[in-house]
Amino acid sequence: MSRKIDRKGAEFVFLPLGGVGEIGMNLYLYGYGRDGAREWLIVDMGVTFGGEAEPGVDVILPDIRFIEEERHNIAGLLLTHAHEDHFGAVIDLWPQLAGVPVYATPFTAEMLKSKLAEIGLVNGFPLQVMPLGDRRSIGPFDVELISMSHSIPEPSAVVIRTPLGAALHTGDWKLDENPLTSAPTDAERLKALGEDGLVALICDSTNAVRDGVSPSEADVAVTLARLIREAPRRVAVTIFASNVARIGSVANAARAAGRELVVVGRAMFRVIEAAQATGYLDLNLAFHEETAFDKLPPHKIVALCTGSQGEPRAAMARIAQGEHPNVKLDAGDMVIFSSRTIPGNEKAVSRIQNALADLRVEVVTDQDAAVHVSGHPRRGELEQLYGWVRPTVAIPMHGEGRHLEAHAKFAEKLGVKQVVRARNGAMVRLLPGPAAIIDDVPVGRLYRDGLIVTRADDGQVRERRKLSFVGSVAVSLVLSEKGHLLADPEVALTGLPAADNEGSSMAEIARDAVIGTIESIPRARRKDQALVSEAVRRSVRAAVNQAWGKKPVCSVLLTVL
Ligand SMILES: [Zn+2]
Ligand SMILES: [Zn+2]
Repeated sequence: MSRKIDRKGAEFVFLPLGGVGEIGMNLYLYGYGRDGAREWLIVDMGVTFGGEAEPGVDVILPDIRFIEEERHNIAGLLLTHAHEDHFGAVIDLWPQLAGVPVYATPFTAEMLKSKLAEIGLVNGFPLQVMPLGDRRSIGPFDVELISMSHSIPEPSAVVIRTPLGAALHTGDWKLDENPLTSAPTDAERLKALGEDGLVALICDSTNAVRDGVSPSEADVAVTLARLIREAPRRVAVTIFASNVARIGSVANAARAAGRELVVVGRAMFRVIEAAQATGYLDLNLAFHEETAFDKLPPHKIVALCTGSQGEPRAAMARIAQGEHPNVKLDAGDMVIFSSRTIPGNEKAVSRIQNALADLRVEVVTDQDAAVHVSGHPRRGELEQLYGWVRPTVAIPMHGEGRHLEAHAKFAEKLGVKQVVRARNGAMVRLLPGPAAIIDDVPVGRLYRDGLIVTRADDGQVRERRKLSFVGSVAVSLVLSEKGHLLADPEVALTGLPAADNEGSSMAEIARDAVIGTIESIPRARRKDQALVSEAVRRSVRAAVNQAWGKKPVCSVLLTVL
């Protein structure tokens, strides 16, 4: 794979295509070589989720047109961990990558394989398993994985070495000596890296607005055990399915309280299987499927549920609405939200919490007790890392604008020589220094819309959003070749009020506008079908606007016999 690249004139560049200035869709490129002859290492390929602004869109992916153009110069795709915002786009986008090998640690590989298995694709997928701590060549890059703490097994930072120097890409991390899954942050290795001399630190910014250090996953385990022990009746705990440490903590708490664990939600089973296959959960972990729920007495149950983000089809939402086929909660039961609400999901989560309160179910969140800890570094942790690796250049990533800016200011305060504020699409030359933004490449978003992946600017989702505000009117017209109306026009209204404030039918208002318009067009000109359609469309929108105060979308189907 590796071509000999002349070091003379070569540059080491960093290019974020997602993950800076927004939530999710982490996608970063590291390049080595001269302009026009660079080889690339891709780090992560994640998604974010559609909200109310993207009706009907479940998943938003990064636009990879730059990668497609460069696909013959891509040495590999390396995944830092199995969170959706880091690896969720691989399956949709890898066909465009022309067989580029995908490197992942055993747990991440297992999670990817279970997704591939769902679509029958495991064989032939170019997956290379690379354990934590491993070091190998990928194209012109010498790549090493360093163990970090986070909220999933095997999160890794990546050291990317080139003949010009080295960069450290942290992935998602925190300092937690007790992450309760894979090995904690490898401080010794990071310190050694600082000794060797590191050029650039490209680092997680999520919690750069917060002082201090994040509490440990072990603290959460203690709180969950207490709450479950003291609860008088059923307890349901909702978590991010991928939080294997938390699954283990809930299972242990259930066992210690003499309760049975019931697992609710398909995503949770997938994670449990992957964690058992890689040694992060006990193979003898005892749990029931959800059909056992109503056979167990209330004081003997702990249910572990998906849907902590208010996802409407996940277990927790259906339980709260009383629509779950097997799991019902009622007065005196407890639901623990052992999770953080991702910005954008607040309304959906509070709808569920209100529905539970209406059932007189007690709701416990991280506002009430230490039932969740973040997997990202606060300033105290950032300060430690900067002290260990002592980079010449800092580039904040993984955060919204205010996180990135807080991180940049903090890095300056810590005395980092150069802080680069890059946004998606900005190509940063790391070496030879000083670092500088040297180019801009196109970036954007793709929507997974049903079975189809489209560009966000293709417009159908924008149109759908418009329909959700103003509804639509379809008009069917039949004209003779000479321009006579051969039948009464038909109108079909979707999403409009039935009548105006005076009680006149909205359909009649639309139909009158159609007839009035046709009659106002001289017969000779009615042969111009485009003119007729456009005139009808405009008049319907204007007439409805006068009656309703809103202009619906209007389509005209014109038949000439
Ligand atoms: Zn993560
Ligand atoms: Zn992340």
